[in-house]
Amino acid sequence: MDDSKSCIFCRIGRGQAEASVVYNDALVTAFLDVHPVATGHVLVVPKVHASGLAALDPESGARMFAVGRRLALVLRGVRGADGVNLHLADGEAAGQTVFHAHLHVIPRTVGDGFGLRLPHGPRPTPDRAALEATAEQLRGALAESVEA
Ligand code: 5GP
Ligand code: ZN
Repeated sequence: MDDSKSCIFCRIGRGQAEASVVYNDALVTAFLDVHPVATGHVLVVPKVHASGLAALDPESGARMFAVGRRLALVLRGVRGADGVNLHLADGEAAGQTVFHAHLHVIPRTVGDGFGLRLPHGPRPTPDRAALEATAEQLRGALAESVEA
């Protein structure tokens, strides 16, 4: 089955479903989230249907980030955001609900009171050997991996 037929973000990208578009090019569309965390909450969405990062081609991924960065600057400049969160949920365990990869660009205001931040409670402090063991595993895997 062609997933893109039923995918709401594919439909928006093709102009077949309603959205408040703020940016559009050959690789990505950016539009307002219908349930914004804050006014100006934008989703940057690749045109190609990729359910998650594994299926996303690097060029579309790079454009998604580049457009997210530009939007972050605009949100600070035009909307007076004090800060911006870029958020990408890859997989159900990470909170993904729409299975077409996308980058959230969320304007933040001092004291806005919502909790989009890494946990600040007790976090472990692994010793250098433990950090190096993890880094070694990742270095090895990166060296083996091909950019697909
Ligand atoms: P996720 O939870 O997958 O990281 O983010 C999905 C986002 O898509 C949610 O913030 C949700 O509000 C938004 N969303 C879901 N359906 C639609 C839609 O039809 N149009 C728009 N503009 N946003 C949507
Ligand atoms: Zn899609």
